[in-house]
Amino acid sequence: MVKSSVLGYPRIGAEREWKKALEAFWSGKIEESVLHEKLKEIRLNHLRKQQEKGIDLIAVNDFSYYDHILDTATMFGIVPKRFAYEGGSVPLSIYYGIARGTKEATASEMTKWFNTNYHYIVPELDGATPVLTENRPLAAYREAKEELGIEGKPVLVGPLTFLKLSKGYEPSETAAWIDRLLPLYVQILQELAQEGVQWVQIDEPILVTKLSDEDLAALKKAYDTFAAAAPSLNIMLQTYFESVENYSEIINLPVKGIGLDFVHGLTGNISTIQAQGFPSDKVLGAGIIDGRGIWKASLREKLTVLEQLSGFVTSDRLIVQSSCSLLHVPVTVRNEAKLLPELKGALAFADEKLDEIILLTKAVSTGVSSIAAELEQCDQALETLKQSGARNRNDVQEAVAVISIQEPKRSKPFAERHIAQQKKWQLPILPTTTIGSFPQSAEVRKARQLWRKGEWNQEQYEGFINEQIDIWIKLQEEIGIDVLVHGEFERTDMVEFFGEKLEGFAFTQFGWVQSYGSRCVKPPIIFGDVAFDEAMTVKETKYAQSQTKHPVKGMLTGPITIMNWSFVRDDISREQIAYQLAYALRQEVEALEGAGIGMIQVDEPAVREGLPLKEEEQAEYLAWAVKAFRMTTCTVQDTTQIHTHMCYCEFHDMIDSIEAMDADVISIETSRSHGELIHSFEVNTYKLGIGLGVYDIHSPRVPRVEEMTSMIERALRVLDPKLFWINPDCGLKTRGLEETVDALRNMVKATEIARSKHGLKV
Ligand code: GLN
Ligand code: ZN
Repeated sequence: MVKSSVLGYPRIGAEREWKKALEAFWSGKIEESVLHEKLKEIRLNHLRKQQEKGIDLIAVNDFSYYDHILDTATMFGIVPKRFAYEGGSVPLSIYYGIARGTKEATASEMTKWFNTNYHYIVPELDGATPVLTENRPLAAYREAKEELGIEGKPVLVGPLTFLKLSKGYEPSETAAWIDRLLPLYVQILQELAQEGVQWVQIDEPILVTKLSDEDLAALKKAYDTFAAAAPSLNIMLQTYFESVENYSEIINLPVKGIGLDFVHGLTGNISTIQAQGFPSDKVLGAGIIDGRGIWKASLREKLTVLEQLSGFVTSDRLIVQSSCSLLHVPVTVRNEAKLLPELKGALAFADEKLDEIILLTKAVSTGVSSIAAELEQCDQALETLKQSGARNRNDVQEAVAVISIQEPKRSKPFAERHIAQQKKWQLPILPTTTIGSFPQSAEVRKARQLWRKGEWNQEQYEGFINEQIDIWIKLQEEIGIDVLVHGEFERTDMVEFFGEKLEGFAFTQFGWVQSYGSRCVKPPIIFGDVAFDEAMTVKETKYAQSQTKHPVKGMLTGPITIMNWSFVRDDISREQIAYQLAYALRQEVEALEGAGIGMIQVDEPAVREGLPLKEEEQAEYLAWAVKAFRMTTCTVQDTTQIHTHMCYCEFHDMIDSIEAMDADVISIETSRSHGELIHSFEVNTYKLGIGLGVYDIHSPRVPRVEEMTSMIERALRVLDPKLFWINPDCGLKTRGLEETVDALRNMVKATEIARSKHGLKV
């Protein structure tokens, strides 16, 4: 019989119960025991739901207290030295310390989980001796069985993926590290086998990237070892997010099943199977329901794919499953009460995807006619959206067609603009600035709620926002910052804010997904053609500027970030969506400039999020992403200073593209990766204005002046002081007021020290 399977389910809960529990614990509102209880309840609910829907292979150990890579590292006792870990099972205080930092020790680096918007904590191997501190997959399996009678499928991150995502070792040590990790995996797997576990899912998404011969040898060794150590266990070697590289090596591994992504890696995986076949002794985990997208699947198209696959694998060796963990989509469409019917009808979140998996499994098992009614409904829902007015805006389509064939270019090169801008702005050397947002206090959130509920009218709310702006303009002046910001108090989220004001977007009420730790985002849905309606940021920026003599930067989110942090339609290309956004945002840039705002920051923290995993596709993406940024910013005067900001990930291999964006100033996050980016400027020269973040904003810890002076010193060794800016790593909205003020004061002190040390005139 064909089986249905899910690779992982969202952790956060339909109402973000998970996030709330974590944060209550961190702020001391609940005890550790209460946290355990609450999380257990959430975890069991999620399992029960999948059980009720009738999923055959339900993932267990997909749940986490923060992040599954951190879970894996701590399960192996891999804890950075600075956390004074003394062995044994890693206490929650250390676990959360690694994730979030403590007063004494900085947090571990956080980075993107492949090309998703999920961020994991990077394990620091640095000479650690791994030991198995607990068998988490086993505990999860037992719990599901005892509490709910579920025969779960434990999930674990595979050794090669774990290693490749870690830092603190040389590539030449790969084999040695695999040897250190294997005994731990073996123990886990043997204990699972002893317990009577049927299927284990070992995630090796790294197999969709290019691997060296050493990596492949390590992979083979690992899976040979597993097969020998636990022969009774059915291992599903799971890949996702793209088609696999090295197909022939992979299918020869001694595992029972291979899981492939037939959504994001559809073309590649299908053509390889057609060329090389699929081994007759293995089960195929056919990932055909998109674990990352929110659209209802066209069941008809999915059946065609399954039909194709049936030519290579008999149905008793087929598992119908999600393309990846459902971690990346919200929980359910069911509770959404405010969406247009034509849109709601075409959506499928995690729970609805469970239904789709069940339907397809049924169709394959008992014939397509058994789901005839559902097929019909599905076709109709998709057709209705296609015909909607929102998807057929000729005005937008025509205008974008015209501007996308022009080359988007500022009228003068940077060197000339720089002179004109210096003359106009008269900034001191090493100018200081911040990234945009200031702490969103409880008061700010409360005010927004009152206004949203209609208890406050527009005037009251705007009055409140202006008061916040006043407070922070004064504070910034008093601290001694050179280029000010208004603080973004009117925004909850940097994408949502713009989406609400542009056309073509829709907003869910509960469509949250985990971004990192307890931080969840509610991505807007770009379901129609994007259009500018009226100015979005002019009022607050203009007000802030009227309160100070210092320049105030206007603050926008860039087209690529809006796109990459939204769920987007899949009927036109991402490139086209980016150009539609760029055209709309250009009108905002022009409105700001027209209102007398002469510095405009267009944030693009998420450019890298959209980078294709396959190297051969990256250049094309970067080219149109850069073009969209330039399209947004190129029409301003020479003296108008365009800023941009990037964060969250590695940039060292895309400096050329960053330079090609031609922003007058860029601020980049650096401190969490401990200055690795600085190193890349030793090899690449950067000729535009640049600020490398001098302190980590993800931690409540106030950095000392000396820490920041040393960051500045290091940067100035490779970057031109005349082009260098001083700023924190990112926006400050998640921080408290006092720590923010203290940190910024220290930042200004560090700047003054650097200025005088270098004999740089102010
Ligand atoms: N301007 C935004 C802020 O300060 C940038 C946020 C970001 O980079 N993620 O909040
Ligand atoms: Zn940032």
